[in-house]
Order: sequence, then C-alpha cells, then structure tokens
Amino acid sequence: SALVSAVGSGVKTVAGVMDATRAGKGCGSCKTLVAQIVEWAAGGEAEQDPAANWYVPGVPMDKAELMAAIRQQGLRSVSAVFDALAGGREDAKSKMGLVSLLRMMWGDEYVDERDARFINDRVHANIQKDGTFSVVPQMKGGCTTPEQLRRIADVADKYAVPLVKLTGGQRIDLLGIRKEDLPKVWADLDMPSGYAYGKSFRTVKTCVGSDYCRFGVGDSTALGIAIESRFQGLESPAKLKLAVTGCPRNCAEAYVKDLGVVAVEGGRWEIYIGGAAGAHVRKGDLLATVDSPDEVVTLAGRFLQYYRENANWLERTYAFVPRVGIDRIRAIILDDSDGIAAALDARMQASVDEYRDPWLEGGEPAAPGQFRTALPLIPLPLVPVRES
Ligand code: SF4
Repeated sequence: SALVSAVGSGVKTVAGVMDATRAGKGCGSCKTLVAQIVEWAAGGEAEQDPAANWYVPGVPMDKAELMAAIRQQGLRSVSAVFDALAGGREDAKSKMGLVSLLRMMWGDEYVDERDARFINDRVHANIQKDGTFSVVPQMKGGCTTPEQLRRIADVADKYAVPLVKLTGGQRIDLLGIRKEDLPKVWADLDMPSGYAYGKSFRTVKTCVGSDYCRFGVGDSTALGIAIESRFQGLESPAKLKLAVTGCPRNCAEAYVKDLGVVAVEGGRWEIYIGGAAGAHVRKGDLLATVDSPDEVVTLAGRFLQYYRENANWLERTYAFVPRVGIDRIRAIILDDSDGIAAALDARMQASVDEYRDPWLEGGEPAAPGQFRTALPLIPLPLVPVRES
C-alpha cells in the first residue's frame, strides 16, 4: 500500500518509489517485486529512471562511458571525477562505487581521499550494530595452525573479545573490537586481513579434498589456497565468494559461489560462475572443464577481470552472468572472441602485483584520526555463554 500510495502521489520510477518508501533498500532481494508493483500501480505509465543505466547515481554515464572518460582525462581521484564529469557536484551515494572503480583502473596511481571511503574501507574492518568492529584474519583454505590459534586466543583474552565465532567462509571472527584497538589487535595477531568487509574478493572455501577424503579426486585445499593467494583483496563491483571442492559431492558448496571449482574424474576441474546462496539462490553456470589447476587459475583470473571491468556497481555475479549470458562469456573468456583475453590477463596481473595487506596500515595510519573513536558505542545485551 505504501508503494501504491507513492505511485499515486506522482512518483513514477522504481528508484523514486524505493527512495520514498525504503522498499528494496535492505537486502535488496525484493527489488524485482517492487518493480512489478510499481509497473502495475502506474497502469502502464511507469517511467524509465534516467539513472538506471548509470554506474553511480551522481555521474550521468554508464560504466563503459565513465571508464573511457576517466582514462582519457586521466582522472585519478573521486573529487576529480565529480569536477570533470558531474559539474563539480559531489554525491555521497556515488563515492564508494567511484573509489572501487578508480582503484581497479589506476592501482597504485589512484589518489586516495579518505573521506570518499565507507567506514569499513577506512578502517579495514566490518562495523557492527553497536559501533564496534569485527576482525577476521586471513585463513587460506580454512587451514590454520596451533600457533595461530594460540595467538587468536591470546588476543581474545587480552581485549576481552565478547564473541569468537567461526564464519561460513571458514575463518575465525573476533566480534566486538573497539575502533581504537584495531591496530593493536592486528599487530598482536600478526596475520593478514581476511577481507571480511568491503566489496572485494573475500575467501575461498574448500573441502578437505583428495589428501584425506576417501571420495576426493582433486586437491581442493591446495587449489583454494593458490586461488586466494593470487586474488586476495582484489577490488570488485560487489563481494566475491569462491569455493573449491574435491569431488561433485560439493561439501564446500562450490556450485553456489560467485566462482566455484569442482574436481571431477580424470584429474579434471569444472569451473562454475554466477552462483549464489544468499537472499538469492542460484546454481552457477558451467564456464569450462579444464585439465589442470593452472588453467583454473588463469581462467578464473580472466573471468574475474572481465567481471570487474563490466559489472555495474553492486551487481553480484548471479545477476551479471545471466545479464551478459553464459554463451557470450564463454566466447570471450575461452575463445577470445573479442580479442581481449591477453589484455584482461595483463590487467589482472597488474592488480595482483599491487596487492598490499591493508592491516599493515595499523603501524602507519593513513590519516591521523583513522582509528580514533567517532561513534558512541551502543550497549548491547551481553552475549550469552553458550554451553557446548
Ligand atoms: S566434496 Fe568430495 S572430496 Fe570434498 S570432502 Fe566432500 S566428499 Fe570429500
């Protein structure tokens, strides 16, 4: 009824109705339904939102036009983009998307303006309901050591961490860390960031694979570690969750990941793209079946770079892959139909070479107030001690 009233009051675009009612602004899974209701309520007079195809709402260009203009004019900062392409008008909603795009395009040459970043990206941690942060160290392939576990336990004791929890991505989450403690926690952990925040490559979930499992036909753990070592921390239009399983029993859920790899008989590997198991559930499309882990890494990198360069801001692979079409993606990635495969590989390599663990900033803050408390902490009910 709120949607229908909004349309009745004269708002005729889907984006306008969403802004007016907040519908579709949470997890976003009901956006299609909202669009259908607006369409129906407007009785065929729904209007196309002019910004629907823009990469970000504050710059009137689609992604390809925007990238061409940025490259042509050498725009290396968010404020330079607003000045040159948006008549000098800053738009807060556009900043995160522009930071991501500029970092992807320029790498080390990108000119950072800290205020352009969302809080999670400024402090490399995920803000929680009460204003504290969660800290998830990298744990490639879900593998850890007694020594790392001891250090994590010591940190949890030292900072009175209220909740230590295993994540769905096979890492350990320390919840309830105060902003000013982040650099000290990272230093004491002495482990790299697991990137459990921001729009970037997150993790590669793996099953135990052929080393230990009786059914395993491929070393999924080793391949998962290799993939994470190569693509760790990559900026992308939306978060990227990956997985590798050692056989089609799929214990690591590779069929429903942005990129999932499944070992099959004969030492071969299937690569699936565009899967999801969140608010939206989708089995990935088969991109290719290849003979070696090296080929998996090459094709994964080529697809991820194509996605980074062509997906809209916040467009997950489960929307991107069907939008472009798996046949078209196969042609580009496998057959090099557009003659861009080598360039995609080279640009991915450049991004890989520029990787730097963001938690190293703990020792040398990028800005004086980077880790100063800014938000009042909201007292939350104490976490109950859960008996095992
Ligand atoms: S997916 Fe296959 S190899 Fe991996 S743990 Fe499950 S049964 Fe074993």
